[in-house]
Amino acid sequence: MTTIRASCPECGDVQLRPSDLKVRVCVDDNAGAYCFACPFCGRSVAKPAERRIVDLLVSSGVKMEVWALPAELSESREGASINYDDLLDFHLLLEREGWFEELVGDSSETTNDGRSRG
Ligand SMILES: [Zn+2]
Repeated sequence: MTTIRASCPECGDVQLRPSDLKVRVCVDDNAGAYCFACPFCGRSVAKPAERRIVDLLVSSGVKMEVWALPAELSESREGASINYDDLLDFHLLLEREGWFEELVGDSSETTNDGRSRG
């Protein structure tokens, strides 16, 4: 039976079976990682893995998951970053009736402090 030795930050070296681990590879940047739950303390451990380690683990029977970065990361962004005033405005907005309609409605309308949005 194949055993894989990995390291838990709490317990040190631990022996695992291929079914105890999972390999994850990102399709966007090819970054690999493996993760497991420590058999002694139960802690979830995740570590980056080079292609060589990914191949070795997969050939030992470890299941591989392929994942993609969230699409939001490639969205273009415009305008200034939000600040504390924006956050306070948003908080006040959420306290009013019809805040949702206000948010999805005309974006050029004026806010309660006189500033124009949009
Ligand atoms: Zn542990």
